[in-house]
Formats: sequence, C-alpha cells, structure tokens
Amino acid sequence: MSVSLPDPLAVPPARGRRVPVPRHLADLAPDDRRRALAELGEPAYRAQQLSQHYFVRHTTDPAAMTDLPAASRAALVEALLPQLLTPVREAVCDNGDTIKTLWRGHDGVLIESVLMRYPQRATMCVSSQAGCGMACPFCATGQAGLTRNLSAAEIVAQVVAGARALARGQVPGGPGRVSNIVFMGMGEPLANYASVLRAVRRITDPVPDGLGISQRSVTISTVGLVPAIRRLTAEGLQVRLAVSLHAPDDKLRDELVPVNRRWKVAEVLGAAWDYAAATGRRVSVEYALIKDVNDQAWRADALAGLLAGRLVHVNLIPLNPTPGSRWTASEPGSMREFEARLADRGIPVTVRDTRGSQIDGACGQLAAPSLAPGARAPDTLQISARVP
Ligand code: SAH
Repeated sequence: MSVSLPDPLAVPPARGRRVPVPRHLADLAPDDRRRALAELGEPAYRAQQLSQHYFVRHTTDPAAMTDLPAASRAALVEALLPQLLTPVREAVCDNGDTIKTLWRGHDGVLIESVLMRYPQRATMCVSSQAGCGMACPFCATGQAGLTRNLSAAEIVAQVVAGARALARGQVPGGPGRVSNIVFMGMGEPLANYASVLRAVRRITDPVPDGLGISQRSVTISTVGLVPAIRRLTAEGLQVRLAVSLHAPDDKLRDELVPVNRRWKVAEVLGAAWDYAAATGRRVSVEYALIKDVNDQAWRADALAGLLAGRLVHVNLIPLNPTPGSRWTASEPGSMREFEARLADRGIPVTVRDTRGSQIDGACGQLAAPSLAPGARAPDTLQISARVP
C-alpha cells in the first residue's frame, strides 16, 4: 500500500482563500487579554470579568453580563467572545451518557466532539483539526485528509460547551463538571502544536483565567511526531501523553500509521520514555486490535518486549468499524490472549470501552459528513438519537 505522506509538521496548505478564525478571549493569555481590552478603550479589569463569564459561568450572552456597563456589553462580546462554533447536530447514545456534537466553524468546516459521562468523571473528547493529515487507513478521519488547524479558542469552545451542558444539568445524571479532556477527536494534536498548547493552558489555568481542570486529567494522543513530543517534554507540563502505536514492528506500522516511515517505532518510544522520565507520568500506548492484522500472539510478545519495565500503560481498543474499511475488530479470544500476554509480563493493560460506537462517535469514527456544495447545514440543533 502506498500513501503519499504530507509533511506532518507543516502548516496545512490553504485551499482557496482562507478566512482567518476570529480572535477570541480563549486565544489570549491573561496579560494579552488585558492588553486587548486597553486597545478597545476599556479598563484592564474587564479582562477578568469577561474571563469569569466565559470560563466560570460559560456564558457569552451580553444580557447576562450585568457587571459590565450595558452600553459596552455587546461590543465586548463581539470583540472577544464571538461565537466560533455553531452546533449543527447532536447524537446521543449509552442512555444519554455519550453525546456527540457536530459543529460548524465560521468558514463552514465541520468538526465533532464527544462528551462521555461516567459515574465518577466526565470526559470531553475534542478535535484539534478539521480533518487529519496523518492518513491512517483504519481511521475515518484520516480518510478525508486535512482541511485546517483549529484555533485554540475553537478547541476550548468544545470543552466550554460540554462544561455548560453539565453545569446546567442538561446531561442525564444531574449537574456535573468536565473532569477529563482527551485530544482524541479529529486531527493530530501535535501537528497543530501552538494552538493545542494554548488550548491546554486555557483548559488548565486556574479559574477565572481558565477552566481550572487539572493538567493530569488532560491527555494528548499522537501518532508519534517525535520532534513535537520532545518539544512537549520541554514544556514541563503534567499532561498525559498517549502514543498510537498499533504495531510493534516497523513493517506493519509503516502501513497502519504512515508517519512511521518518518519516525520509526524505536524513535517514537524513545521520545515517549523521555517524556515519562521528565514528567514521572505513565505513557499510554494505544493499540487498536485489528483481526489478523496486528493481533497475533507473536506481536503481543514483541510489544511486551518493547514495553516491559517501562512507565507505561497499554490501552487495547477493539477496532471500531469505519466506512469502506476492509478490516474488522479482533475476535474476543484473540483480544483476551493479547491482553494476557502483556499482563503476564507485568505490563498494565486495559481494554478500552467502545463508548459512542453506535453513533459513530468512538475512536476513529469521527468524520463530519460532507455537505453537498452550496448546501447549508441546518441552523437548529436536532437530537437524532440513533440507537440500533
Ligand atoms: N491523531 C491522534 C488522536 C486521534 S485518534 C492519534 O492518532 O493518536 C485517537 C485514537 O483512536 C488513536 O489511537 C487512533 O489510532 C485510534 N483509532 C483511530 N481509528 C480507530 C478505529 N477505527 N478503531 C479504533 N481506534 C481507532
């Protein structure tokens, strides 16, 4: 199989004329917010007030901002809290505990995010790019290619939407909060490094400067862009790193994760171990089990050989079906065997649940439906629970 590989670290090429994403409070560090307000002729302390509205109260409604002069509310919202993402469609499954939202960006791009509620936590799975340039053949997002990077504020907006729905008790189970963030939606987060890092700061900065979610509860998942992993290591953050390995050998990984032709298994794991050493945090190794492709007992042993004795945790993911894919999930027996071989070598291993698979909201299934040229996505939010 041959996949032509774009430069994974390059800024995506502009297709046609690109309209820049409007600037938003969530793109700016606290000092830059104060500067932006001064430029708007407003006192700098308004930065804190607007941050409180957005990150704590999750509101962008001028009418609710009663601590601001009525005359300047609308202008401030327009300048610093523009609506970047419009909900197009929502799909719900798992008795309401999993909610996938399709969003339209200001320029028409479509992206998805997924909120998963569990008894003790609520995880928001966010997209970092519209589409993805990594071309992994088993992933639906990878099939359509990359449209563009998301801005930091577009990433944060997905989290704020989930936080708002939980805080207002709109998710079954009563009012709650977002406790975990995973960069496992559409896109390769480390190929949009600057915006993803800015978003991580906004997500983890204490309230009211940010959302106040613990760094340790944020996971960045990557195909293994080695220079970017090293750059992340140098940031000194406590976020969890997840590496999508999917094969222990370069021959197969070259095919499953085409970027492997640039950075081999040994280099990717080398960078991962350095991350673990610098942060003291266990690295997650993600491994989608694909029937008769990467699920053989000998590959489990080879994987165990690479990981034994390391600060690591393996997440086995039964392959989720994607349109047109020739591959299917491993048989339960081979999954158990694969898991047991890792566990026997003392490697912590879990099988990931396939939350959201009924609504194409599980790993690798996020692929915003393409709308016919000129067609307009519906403006109103529709609930389309599709439970088989
Ligand atoms: N680009 C990043 C993050 C997005 S994908 C990355 O690749 O890590 C999140 C995880 O879902 C990755 O491990 C990815 O390989 C996996 N995945 C993709 N398609 C899948 C599928 N069809 N079934 C199961 N997991 C899949």
